[in-house]
Amino acid sequence: MVDPMNTMRKTKIVCTIGPRTQSYEMLMTMALKGMNIARLNMSHGDHDWHGQVIHHIKRLNRKEGGAVAILLDTKGPEIKTGDVSPDIPLKNGDSLTFTIRREAILEPHCVEVSYDGFIDDVSIGDIILVDGGMIRLEVMDKTACDILCQSLDEGLLGSRRHLNIRGKSADLPSITEKDWLDIKFGIEQGVDFIALSFVKEASAIVDLQQYLAERNANIDVIAKIESAEAIPHLAEIIEIADGVMIARGDLVAELAFEEVPHLQEEMVLRCRQAGKPVIVATHMLESMIINPTPTRAEVTDITWAVLQGVDCTMLSGETTTGKYPVKALEVMDAVARRTEQRQKLDPRVRVEASDNAKYEIARCAAILNNNLQAKAILVFTRRGLMAVLVSACRPNESIYAFTNSSHVRRRLAIHWGVEACIVKFSKTPETTISRAIKLLTGKNIVSTGDRVIVVSDILADGTFVETVQVRII
Ligand code: PEP
Repeated sequence: MVDPMNTMRKTKIVCTIGPRTQSYEMLMTMALKGMNIARLNMSHGDHDWHGQVIHHIKRLNRKEGGAVAILLDTKGPEIKTGDVSPDIPLKNGDSLTFTIRREAILEPHCVEVSYDGFIDDVSIGDIILVDGGMIRLEVMDKTACDILCQSLDEGLLGSRRHLNIRGKSADLPSITEKDWLDIKFGIEQGVDFIALSFVKEASAIVDLQQYLAERNANIDVIAKIESAEAIPHLAEIIEIADGVMIARGDLVAELAFEEVPHLQEEMVLRCRQAGKPVIVATHMLESMIINPTPTRAEVTDITWAVLQGVDCTMLSGETTTGKYPVKALEVMDAVARRTEQRQKLDPRVRVEASDNAKYEIARCAAILNNNLQAKAILVFTRRGLMAVLVSACRPNESIYAFTNSSHVRRRLAIHWGVEACIVKFSKTPETTISRAIKLLTGKNIVSTGDRVIVVSDILADGTFVETVQVRII
């Protein structure tokens, strides 16, 4: 039985699914070990493959009581090298030509690029990064079809390697034809979240949200911040999107690497202030793709993200093709739990004083919880909103969200500190509250005499009124 209520970890974990984790048994193990969200990376695999994984996850949610949410991550407008055979060994100072010519390239040290606009985007003096900076090449000259470069590093240039121009985003459409097909597939499959790659401006998010609304698809849109061009538009992107992923892999390729930790801190804070969930992604346990233990620096990276109060941390290669997917998840889980023991986040970071009653009730619940050292916060919520608002205040204790919708339950998987569970809503709120308390006492989460904070509707003069209550069980 997969019981997310037993995990008691506030920071959620997103696991990217790949060949190492695609089977029902492995997905089940990952769910038992605390995977909250399964990420499907549309850069790899076809619809049949992803459909099979989705089928397994839905089955384990249905049969085993799990609440694993599904996040479809679009490929986005990536620029890649064409096929190279054999790989080209490069030394510092070696020449290499990138070309948009489509005829068979027989010249040595000449590689095709997948995107024709690359020639216009690149200027002499730019630095082209292969796979996020594994090899750097300086642009020395260019013609109508060729970009002549000099390698600044030693390395092996292979087929379909990812290319970036340092400090620039390519002039590509934010949502490609392939992305739209994948989004349509995601709607048909009923995924919970869509992560939009290489978002540069809020308009791409709006386009996707409109597309989803026209199709009555209740899917949250996560903006992946991974291009230099997104940075000046962070405020609008965070305001419009339902959440943010800090995609450090590509971000590091487009910006100076020493900027990225500071940007991470800024983005986490902005998201927390806006009450939007934020995922820190990429290379969190990269060495565990081949080693059974993490490096000290990786442990520190996770610790730092958790102390910042992120909603989710993410595993990529570690759980797709890595040798130790379960161990990587265990390490991330252990580091997050340990860090949460000393995590004291300011409940007021969420918002300035507002005239929004729901925000203020949520903030009040968090402050009451902390000041009265309550054991738990119980939130009764049909659409999930009140649980999201309380989570944004980062109270010291876990938030137990009671909903009557399994879709809402899964969507709460992305929010810090929320353990969502299904309860049958009665016409009388008091009956629903009693059911929930029984559920929590049955699991030894709270016991008689404990103080809890309850956020719930009550029936007053025939209308429902939102309340925050302090109760002794
Ligand atoms: C990243 O670049 O950090 C990232 C998460 O994107 P992807 O894995 O889709 O390249």
